[in-house]
Amino acid sequence: MEFSRLLKALQVEADNGFNDMQGKQYRFSEFLCLSLGQPTPEIPRDRRQQLRDLGSKFSDYRHLGFADRRNLLAEARQLLAQTQKYRAAAVPGPIAAEGSTTPKPDPVRASGRSPQPAISAIARSPQPGSPPPSQSPDPESPPSRSKGPIDLDQPIQFLPGIGPKSADRLAKLNLFTVRDILYYYPRDHIDYAKQINIRDLKPGDTVTIVGQLKSCNCFTSPRNSKLTIFDLTLRDVSGQIKLSRFYMGARFSSRGWQENQKRQFAPGATIAASGLVKESKYGMTLDNPELEVLESADHDAESSKIGKIVPIYPLTEGVPADLVRRSVVAALVAVGQLQETLPEGLRRQYELSDIQSAIAGIHFPDSTEALDAARKRLVFDEFFYLQLGLLNRRQQQQENRTSIVLEPTGALLTQFYDRVLPFTLTGAQDRVLIDILGDLQKTIPMNRLVQGDVGSGKTIVAVIALLSAIQSGYQGALMAPTEVLAEQHYRKLVHWFNQLHLPVELLTGSTKVAKRREIHRSLQSGELPLLVGTHALIEDPVQFDRLGLVVIDEQHRFGVQQRARLTQKGDNPHVLTMTATPIPRTMALTLHGDLDVSQIDELPPGRKAIKTTIVTPKKRQDVYDMFRREIALGRQIYVVLPLVDESEKLDLKSAIVTHQDLQTNVFPEYQVGLLHGKLSSAEKDAAITAFRNNETHILVSTTVVEVGVDVPNASVMLIEHAERFGLSQLHQLRGRVGRGAEQSFCLLMSASRSEVSLQRLQVLEKSQDGFFISEMDLRFRGPGEVLGSRQSGLPDFALASLVEDQDVLEVARDAAAQALAKDPTLEKWPAMKAELAYRYTRLLGGAILT
Ligand code: ADP
Ligand code: MG
Repeated sequence: MEFSRLLKALQVEADNGFNDMQGKQYRFSEFLCLSLGQPTPEIPRDRRQQLRDLGSKFSDYRHLGFADRRNLLAEARQLLAQTQKYRAAAVPGPIAAEGSTTPKPDPVRASGRSPQPAISAIARSPQPGSPPPSQSPDPESPPSRSKGPIDLDQPIQFLPGIGPKSADRLAKLNLFTVRDILYYYPRDHIDYAKQINIRDLKPGDTVTIVGQLKSCNCFTSPRNSKLTIFDLTLRDVSGQIKLSRFYMGARFSSRGWQENQKRQFAPGATIAASGLVKESKYGMTLDNPELEVLESADHDAESSKIGKIVPIYPLTEGVPADLVRRSVVAALVAVGQLQETLPEGLRRQYELSDIQSAIAGIHFPDSTEALDAARKRLVFDEFFYLQLGLLNRRQQQQENRTSIVLEPTGALLTQFYDRVLPFTLTGAQDRVLIDILGDLQKTIPMNRLVQGDVGSGKTIVAVIALLSAIQSGYQGALMAPTEVLAEQHYRKLVHWFNQLHLPVELLTGSTKVAKRREIHRSLQSGELPLLVGTHALIEDPVQFDRLGLVVIDEQHRFGVQQRARLTQKGDNPHVLTMTATPIPRTMALTLHGDLDVSQIDELPPGRKAIKTTIVTPKKRQDVYDMFRREIALGRQIYVVLPLVDESEKLDLKSAIVTHQDLQTNVFPEYQVGLLHGKLSSAEKDAAITAFRNNETHILVSTTVVEVGVDVPNASVMLIEHAERFGLSQLHQLRGRVGRGAEQSFCLLMSASRSEVSLQRLQVLEKSQDGFFISEMDLRFRGPGEVLGSRQSGLPDFALASLVEDQDVLEVARDAAAQALAKDPTLEKWPAMKAELAYRYTRLLGGAILT
């Protein structure tokens, strides 16, 4: 069972207000009902029954009221979290079983995480560097529970000062056990040492101040009923300051919200406020500051002596900040029971602190250095276990054997090089071919990804690999994500293969039945050496006689399943995947850490850089004049429109409207074509053919031109609303021009005045390097955006950042490779092996509700 996916679904449903959200295939309740109804066999029988019972409750979900829905979700979360722990613990197999010395009813104890006697002895005294447990009494909690050592896997309510009510609240954050709390990392810290006195504030600085709350008021604006104003006055040793926060929306105008706000921010509380300093008529203030209650008013003065650096935790509604902070303080008593999973040699080699001080230090560090050290260790763990998992997977794949051994030289390739190949290969193409042809001679099936910018010449590399398979007596398959692209490949291949007297066929969704039958037949008999096509290739009736090599172009557009289904049509064939969307190295390692990767990092000679310019709508006339000049020179133009709101309908509308406007109002003297995803493939074909034959001068298109369309005579691309695209995507689009010998141009139309938007687009003006551009995309918009909606599957790191932590990632990958080299089974390090099983499944939860 995919627990992380289920838990994520619960989370998202809660975030969406329990509205039984609709996934791609199922509604939330259906998904839960189905998934829980079929628990997998590794789960113990009594748990399986519990899961099934829970599942059946979801069949009624739609008829439940809000509160019942919420309660059901809480119940589900608890059961899943407990069962997940059991399962994760059970995965490592024999080691787990041996690791547990004392059989305990709690299954988690069997995980090899059970405390060794020496360690649990220190557990009773707080770790150096961690604060003493909070003594604040929690009226709900019976005092007897705080006696005796605290077990990491005990429910939170066994902590001193935390009762069942508090535990229920913490469950909203998916925190159930003491261990959960310890691993609930702060999202930020406030450094009291660096705190600025109110008297010393200077306009323009971004600061954090900490002070006592003198007074506060929360009210709806008399002039605007949607606007809620929250005023407060803070005081520190040096003076006082008046702050205001503004909230828009009906939710905030409610009495309940405002009362709650006042309750949280009661006078006497210690507050941290951060933001930009500006001058107002009341003196200095902070511009709409971030506010954080560090300690509530009713806290005793004693606890204000907490460390100089205070953690700020991610919260959710109904879970107050000091409850989380208080439970962390309480849970830290048990930090000594955390078992170290990294061998000491490794920690010394990479200068990593031990797990106990890292966990203590991430919550309450003594200094910024201590915080950095703690963070480094925990980020390392996140990367290390992912890389260990990926490399382990690769290792297992390499234990796979194939009988398909393909010759790198032979009559067919010689003929191709001598008579057909129309140019000399670039150095980068040569290098990548050496990698590939080397792989093909081994009895380990190849699993290699070729990354190369648009136009870097990946196709020819794939063709040479395919010819190597064919001359060794095998068949090849080339799969592309769209019909347009598949046809383009097919046309090139027919041209080359004809000269070699080799047949090649195209199979797509629109291949006629008779033709389709003929293809199936000749493929199965082995007469047909190469089949090009779309995902039609993975359909059932397609059978190869001797499939030796599978090539998948634009691999990120296919799911893992689809790729696997094509591969399964042979007996362990070699697999070559290609992508023209280079991604930053950190992301590549994270996503493709189990693949071999080659880069084509050089363009064929004679390419002119595409002149890229940002233009505003005011310049539209100039742009159209330029179109006329280029068309007069015989060239052609693309006009590309963005996806509007991810909605295909609007997307379509804007393309149709623009097309009409250009054809009738602006360029009546020229032919304007239209291409979008909703056209039938015959219509698409017609649009592209007309453009290729220069019968249409301007092609208005949605982003479907992004892959495939190859018209060297097109010299200008205008991209409307350029700020709505990711940089990598813009770069990809722009690659449609500049394919001929002429100077080409890319115009990025944007009305945006945002500084950041402009800075982003300027990256494209300055650079043509896909790797650099994707790196910048990552910095500006984060990993999700670089990949766009096309690909998920990036793991959810708690601390690690693919932008900031590249060096730690490199080191972690090294360390993982070294560990596997020393002991491929990891038997030497049982704790590490158990941790791998636990983390790896959690990290690669994947998309929800598919
Ligand atoms: P992509 O990497 O985007 O798939 P293609 O394989 O389509 O790029 O190649 C782009 C263009 O460059 C094609 O027209 C191809 O024939 C040409 N080409 C590829 N390699 C070379 C080379 N070494 N020298 C000159 N032209 C080349
Ligand atoms: Mg290509």
